[in-house]
Amino acid sequence: MSTATLSAPRTKTAKSPVKIRQTKMLIDGKWVDAADGKTFETLNPATGEVIARVAEGSKADVDKAARAARKAFDKGPWRKMSARERGRCLSRLADLIEKNADELATLETLDNGKPYKDSRNIDLPLTIECYRYYAGWADKIEGKTIPVSGPYFTYTRHEPVGVVGQIIPWNFPLLMQAWKWGPALAAGCAIVLKPAEQTPLTALRVGELAMEAGFPEGVVNIVPGYGETAGAAISEHAEIDKVAFTGSTEVGKLILQAAGRSNLKRVTLELGGKSPNIVFADADLDSALEGSFFGLFFNQGQCCCAGSRLFVENSVHDQFVEKMLQRTKKQKVGDPFDPNTTQGPQVSQEQFDKVMGYIDAGQKDGARMLTGGHRVGDKGYFIEPTVFAGVKDEMRIAREEIFGPVMSIIRFKDMDEVIERGNRTTYGLAAAVWTRDIGKAHRLAAEFRAGTVWINCYDVFDAAAPFGGYKMSGIGRELGEYALRNYTEVKTVTVAL
Ligand code: NAP
Ligand code: MG
Repeated sequence: MSTATLSAPRTKTAKSPVKIRQTKMLIDGKWVDAADGKTFETLNPATGEVIARVAEGSKADVDKAARAARKAFDKGPWRKMSARERGRCLSRLADLIEKNADELATLETLDNGKPYKDSRNIDLPLTIECYRYYAGWADKIEGKTIPVSGPYFTYTRHEPVGVVGQIIPWNFPLLMQAWKWGPALAAGCAIVLKPAEQTPLTALRVGELAMEAGFPEGVVNIVPGYGETAGAAISEHAEIDKVAFTGSTEVGKLILQAAGRSNLKRVTLELGGKSPNIVFADADLDSALEGSFFGLFFNQGQCCCAGSRLFVENSVHDQFVEKMLQRTKKQKVGDPFDPNTTQGPQVSQEQFDKVMGYIDAGQKDGARMLTGGHRVGDKGYFIEPTVFAGVKDEMRIAREEIFGPVMSIIRFKDMDEVIERGNRTTYGLAAAVWTRDIGKAHRLAAEFRAGTVWINCYDVFDAAAPFGGYKMSGIGRELGEYALRNYTEVKTVTVAL
């Protein structure tokens, strides 16, 4: 994660610390109201107050956006633009995001609740890096020449897949948009994006910057709205060639079904997880402690790859639990614009209720709650950082994705046992291992059925490093060169010589 240091904006006590510039939807290069004129509220999770009303997209708007994208892809200047010029557009977008980073970070914190320090020092740099990284790829997407039998010359072209629908969640709004837009635009696709209903504001602002960066009309379209309406319309639309989704496994299944019912659009899914994080007795326990704390509590626990099953080896278990308890007490829950805050509110009432439900379930199932468990304050969706010890594999808090600041510590005896138990999940997004024994570390890295394994670190992301899930954590990989495959079709051309 980036370590750049910047202070919170001086306006932190103002009611709305940033001007909301854009609440309409972006279709064919124009900012428009919903076809039926509807709007929905987006809330500040720190207060529960309404920040703004945003145009609410429905099927008709998705249809308009898909046609605009189709036109831009089939006939517009986008099709004729050179790959290098596409890269320049992406590069300019990265520059504009960087130039407006304070504003975007403020908007992100206002809409999502994450500490401004994190928005500004983690989300923004990773977002900018991602656009820059894919700007570099635009003119490096190459096919092959293939030695076939007979008097023929055969080569492949990697062509853009076409119009892509992208449906993203609320936990990292700007970053998820970058993970989706970067490779799609580098490959030459046109986009219909639906940001999460809880956090539409930064996506719209990036839409404005994209127009300023020179993307032709219709290349990027943004339709805010609800999943059941706008999201479902994207996954069912016959003119959309591919859908990329990040969110819950439950909705991921719906998207796959809709693709099957409609036009067999290509589908990539980035879903949930219940990632095992293994601390061996021979680890550097101080860094294991800090890394495990971060790996769970970062972003209010709202990470798909959260290390939510923390396995600790028997011989160091009790001392580790005690230290984790002390570490957790240092967490500062409160106003996300306060520079001392390390944990903001959950994103919504719904997520707050869900997490509190799991805290209840943990207690009822007999886990030992060492700290936390309550709401903080009387407005907003703040939850105390909560640590459970004595967690058993079959408890709900050890099996289901909580997506909140709730840590489950589980004992283990030896390596074979922890490999078996770690893999005993329907998910497979990430895993981590803390040990000084490199043989052990690499054996675990090979044994875990997970898309990412961190050794002596956690949540290390880079635009160049692929990320995605085994099993029910998803289909396909985002980031790196691999993500370009999601947005290209391979064409074989054979010429008689
Ligand atoms: P979600 O419903 O899966 O939301 C993700 C995105 O999908 C949102 O844009 C959502 O729209 C949209 N969506 C919802 N129903 C849809 C449908 N039928 N067709 C097409 N798109 C649809 O997730 P959530 O309800 O926000 O959160 C529920 C749980 O999902 C969380 O507690 C967490 O466990 C998991 N989650 C995982 C991730 C991740 O990074 N993998 C991210 C967020 C949540 P709306 O704007 O209407 O919601
Ligand atoms: Mg909001």
